Amino acid sequence: MKKTKMDYFVLKKKSKYDTICQEGSDIVAELKDVKGIGPKSLSLLNKINIYTIEDLVTHYPFRYEILKRNELSEVGDGEKIIIDGRVESIPILMRFKAGLNKMNFRLVTPSGVVGVSIFNRAFLKNQLTVGTGVTVIGKLDKTKNIITAADIKLETLSNKMKIEPVYHCTNGLTNKNLSTYINMALLMHGKEIPDYIPKEYLEKYNFSNKKTSLNLIHNPSTEEKLKEVTVRLKYEELFAFMFKINYLKIQNKKKNQGLERQIDKNMLNKFIKNIPFKLTDDQKKAIDEIVNDLEASHRMNRLLQGDVGSGKTIVSFVAMVANHLSGYQSALMAPTEILATQHFNNLKNFLKDTDVNIELLTGSTSKKDKQKIYEDLKNGNISMIVGTHALIQEEVEYNNLGLVITDEQHRFGVHQRANLQNKGKKPDVLYMSATPIPRTYALTIFGDMDVSTIKQRPKGRQKIDTFVKKNSEIKDVLEMMYKELKQDHQVYVIAPLIEESENSDLTTVCKLKDQMKLAFKDKYNIDIVHGKMASAAKDMIMSKFKENEIQILISTTVIEVGVDVPNATTMVIFDADRFGLSTLHQLRGRVGRGTSKSQCILISDSDAERLKIMERVDDGFEISEEDFKLRGHGDLFGTKQSGDMAFKIASIKSDYKILLQAKKDSKEYLLNKETDKEDLKRKLIESITNG
Ligand code: ADP
Ligand code: MG
Repeated sequence: MKKTKMDYFVLKKKSKYDTICQEGSDIVAELKDVKGIGPKSLSLLNKINIYTIEDLVTHYPFRYEILKRNELSEVGDGEKIIIDGRVESIPILMRFKAGLNKMNFRLVTPSGVVGVSIFNRAFLKNQLTVGTGVTVIGKLDKTKNIITAADIKLETLSNKMKIEPVYHCTNGLTNKNLSTYINMALLMHGKEIPDYIPKEYLEKYNFSNKKTSLNLIHNPSTEEKLKEVTVRLKYEELFAFMFKINYLKIQNKKKNQGLERQIDKNMLNKFIKNIPFKLTDDQKKAIDEIVNDLEASHRMNRLLQGDVGSGKTIVSFVAMVANHLSGYQSALMAPTEILATQHFNNLKNFLKDTDVNIELLTGSTSKKDKQKIYEDLKNGNISMIVGTHALIQEEVEYNNLGLVITDEQHRFGVHQRANLQNKGKKPDVLYMSATPIPRTYALTIFGDMDVSTIKQRPKGRQKIDTFVKKNSEIKDVLEMMYKELKQDHQVYVIAPLIEESENSDLTTVCKLKDQMKLAFKDKYNIDIVHGKMASAAKDMIMSKFKENEIQILISTTVIEVGVDVPNATTMVIFDADRFGLSTLHQLRGRVGRGTSKSQCILISDSDAERLKIMERVDDGFEISEEDFKLRGHGDLFGTKQSGDMAFKIASIKSDYKILLQAKKDSKEYLLNKETDKEDLKRKLIESITNG
C-alpha cells in the first residue's frame, strides 16, 4: 500500500526480531502483552484504531474533567459531590446474592460528618481502616446525609483540584478501562516509546522526556504541567510531520528529474512584450520562477497563489508558451466548462498571430470532435489543450506532454490532479489557486510544493465597496443596480441557494428574472445561467454577457470561479449567509476587474456579524483565515484531504506558531549532515520511504 501524508503517524507494526537500539527506540512488545488486555479488550481497542502500544499511549484525552472538592453545605440534594475526609468507622460489609455487595462507613470531613455507601468494592475493606484519608466521589442524599459513592480514591487530593482525562471510548470499553490500560502500558513499556524530537531540540526547549510527558498528559497533576506537556507533544507531532514534508520536497527535487528542454528566451520575451498591459512585479517574478523551474533539471511542482483578479491566467499562458517553445505539449485544466471556454478563447486570442494549434476539450465536445482531438493529441498535432475533467479521461493520450496546469486547483481532488500529471512522462506541474487557502493549510497540504505568490493587484484596481443589506431593503439594492446600469455597466445577480430538487435551481433563477423584469421593465436585457443548463447554452449566455448584449445576468454559483467580464461592476448576492466567506470573496471577485469602481451587495436577514467581515476586509488571504476560524476547513477541502486528520494532538488551526517553529527546526535538522547517522533521522526517513 502506498503511504500518503495522512499515514505518517501510523507506524509499522514492529516484528519481534527488530533490535532495540537505545532507550525509546522501539517497542517490541505487542498490545496483547500489556497486563490486563485480553482478547476481548484487544478487539475493542482495535475498534477505535488502537493496534500497537504506541497507538495506545498516544490515544490522548480529548478533554479533561476538573474535579474540584466540595463542601457538604454547598451541594444540593441528589447532586454530584467530591469530598475529602477520613474514615471514622470500620466499614460494614453486606453481601447479597449474585455476588453483589455493599459497604457502609462514616466519613469525617472538614465540613461535617457524612455516611458513605458503595457497591461492589469489597476488596477495599482492608484498606479503609479508621483514619485513612480518602476522596469520595458520588451523589449526596441530603435528607439521609449519605453519599452513594461511585468511586473512592485512597488518597486525599493534594490540591483543591483533580484533573481527570476523558477519552474517546467505545461500547464495552470505558474511560476507566482505557486509563488503566494506558497507565499499565506506560508502566511496562514507557521507556521504549519512541521520541521523535531529536536530543538537541529537547534540550533547547527544555522539554521533558517522552515517558514523563505521556505520563503527565494522561495523569496531569496541575493545569500548568498539562499545558507544558501538551505543547511538547504537539511540537513532536508537528516536527515529525514537517520533517517528512521537507524531506519529500528535497527528494522531489533530487530524484524527480524533469524533462530536458531549452527555451528560446528571445521568442518568449517577444510574447511577453506583446501582452496588452504592463505585468505587475509579482507576475514577472512568478513567470521567472516558473521558467526557471521548467529549465531546471528537477520536475516543477509549483503552486501559483494569488487573490481573485490578481492575474494568474496570463502567467499560466506565458508558462504554456515557454513550454511550447521548448517543443512540448501543454494542458490546462479548469473546473468548469465556462471557465475552460474562457481560458480557451483568451489563449487563442493571446496567440492569434501564431500557428500554435490550440483545442478545447470538455464534456460537451461532440463525439466526433473528441475522436479527432484524441488523435491529434496522440500524434502531436495539438500543442495546447484547454479543458475540464475531460482531459484526464483514460482515452486521452499525449504525444509529449511537458506542462500540466490546473486552475482553481482546490476544486479538484488530489486524485484528479495526480491523474493529469501522470499522463505524460514527467510533465512539469503548475497549480493555480485563488482561494485563499489559509496559510496554515497551504503549508501542510501543499507543503511539498514550491509556491509563487501574486500579492499585487494590477494597476488601476480599486477596492470593491461591499454592503450588507436586508431583504426588506431590496428597493435600495435595485436603485444601486440601476445607477450602474445607467452608466452602461453590467450586473451579476446570484440567486438564492436552494438544493431541494433538481429543478429548483431553475425555479429560483426564473423567479428572480421575473422580479427583475418587473423592476427594470424592458430597459435592460436580463438572462439566466445555471448549473443544469447544457454547456453550449451556458457558453452562449456568457459570451452574450461578455459582449454586453445582456446587462443583468442572474446565475447560480456556476460563475463563481474565474469568469472575467471587466465591464460588470455590481455583484448582488441573495442569501449571502448561506455561503462561506471565501466563496463570497470569489463571487465578489467577479467585479472590480476593470478600472471602474465596483460594488458588491450581500443580501441576508441573518448572520450579519460574519458578513460584516466582507465589508471590512478585501484581502482574500485574510478572509480565508477568518472563514477558517469561523467554519473550519470543511468549506475548502473534503475531510480526507484535510491535514488535521493526521494529527492526534496538534491542530494546524490553533497551533500555527508551534507548526512554524517545528517546520524551521525540522528543516535545520534534516539538512544537518552531522545528524545523518542518528537512529532517529534514519527512522523518520524510513517511515516515509517504506510503505
Ligand atoms: P485571476 O488571478 O483571478 O485568475 P485573471 O487572470 O482572470 O485573474 O485576471 C483578471 C483580469 O485582470 C483579466 O481581465 C486580466 O486580463 C487582467 N490583468 C491581468 N494582469 C493584468 C495587469 N498586469 N494589468 C492589467 N490587467 C491585468
Ligand atoms: Mg483565474
